[in-house]
Amino acid sequence: MSTFWNSRTRELSPYIPGEQPRNERYIKLNTNENPYPPSPVVIEAIKQAADERLRLYPDPSCAALREAVAERRHVKPEQVFAGNGSDEVLAFAFAAFFEGGRSAAPILFPSITYSFYPVYAHLWGIPYERPPLQEDFSITHNDYLKPCGGVVFPNPNAPTGMMMPPDNVRAVARFHAGQNGRGHAVVIVDEAYIDFAGDADAVRQASAVHYIEEHPNLLTVHTLSKSASLAGLRLGFAIGNEELIDGLCRVRDSFNSYPVDRLAMSGGIAAMKDAAYYEAITRAVVATRERVSAALIEMGYTVLPSSANFLFVRHPVMSGGEFFAVLRSAGILVRHFNKERIADFLRVTVGTDAEMDAFLTVCGARL
Ligand code: PMP
Repeated sequence: MSTFWNSRTRELSPYIPGEQPRNERYIKLNTNENPYPPSPVVIEAIKQAADERLRLYPDPSCAALREAVAERRHVKPEQVFAGNGSDEVLAFAFAAFFEGGRSAAPILFPSITYSFYPVYAHLWGIPYERPPLQEDFSITHNDYLKPCGGVVFPNPNAPTGMMMPPDNVRAVARFHAGQNGRGHAVVIVDEAYIDFAGDADAVRQASAVHYIEEHPNLLTVHTLSKSASLAGLRLGFAIGNEELIDGLCRVRDSFNSYPVDRLAMSGGIAAMKDAAYYEAITRAVVATRERVSAALIEMGYTVLPSSANFLFVRHPVMSGGEFFAVLRSAGILVRHFNKERIADFLRVTVGTDAEMDAFLTVCGARL
C-alpha cells in the first residue's frame, strides 16, 4: 500500500492473468491461446499497414473493421462495437449498463466463472450475487430469472468449458427484456470461446448473436484472442442492439477515443475475411480436444464436457496443487484456480497434437 494511492486504488482487487514466461522452456497450456499461427493473410495485412500512416490517428469509429465483423457475423455494422481486447469491452459494458452504489440492485453472475467479472464489479462499485453452479458444474438458468441489476456469464462458461443451451440463454434475455412488468436489465453473454462449440453452422445456431434482433437487451461479447489466434493484437467486439452499442461508445469516448490502433484494425479486417483458414484451425483444435478428453477419461481422470479450447480436468487421486506442480516440473504450464469446489481441477488449454501428447505422457506416468 502506498500513501500516494487514493482510497479507490487501495480498495481495488486486480485480476491476476496467467503466467507469460519469458523463455520458451515451457509447453504453454495456461492462457487459452491458440496453438496455431494467425492466418498468413493477417500477418501480411499488418505488415502492409506498418508504414508512414502510423503518423495519423486511427479511425475512432473503426468503420471498416465493424463492417468486416458485421459481414462475418451476419449483423449490421451499427450493431458492432470494437475495443482493445474483449476485457476492455467487458469493462466498458459493466460501466455502461450496470448501476453502481450500495442501493443498486445486484447483478448476477455464476459462482464459478471468469474471474474478471468481480474485478470489474469492484472497479465500478457494482453490487453482485453469484448463484452456485449445479452439482455437474452446469449453470442453472432459472437462477437468473429474477429481478436484478443485470446478468453476465460466458457461454461456454470458463473455466468449465460447459455450454448453456441457446434456448436457456434466450429465456434469460426474454425475462429481462422489460415486458409484462418483469425485469428490465442488460444480459451480457461473453462468447470468447463460442467458435469452438462446433462447425460454423452449429456456432451460428448456438451463438446469442443470432437473437440480438429479438432481444434489444442482449449484448454478446467476442474476441479475436482465441479462435482467431490474435491474443497479442488485442481486439474484442460487442455485438448487440444499436442502443447498447451507442452506450458503449459513450463510455469509450469518456476514456480513450482510439482503443483500436491502425495495425490491429488492419489485422482484424483480414482475420474476419479469412473464415476458411480459421475454420480449419478451429476444426483441428476441436479434434485434439475430443481425442485428449477421451484419453484422459480412459485413464480415470474426470473431464468436464468442453465446448471451448480448453479442458477442465481432475486427477484421479492427486490434489490440483500437486498435479499442477508435477506438470510444471515436467515443463508443462497449466492454470490452477485455488478456489472452492474447483481446487482439485486444472484448466488445460488445447495445444497442438504434439504438445498434448507430451501432456498425456505425463498424465499417464503419474497415475
Ligand atoms: N472472457 C473470457 C471468458 C475469457 O476467458 C477471456 C480471456 N482471458 C476474455 C474474456 C478476455 O479475452 P481478451 O481480452 O483477450 O479478448
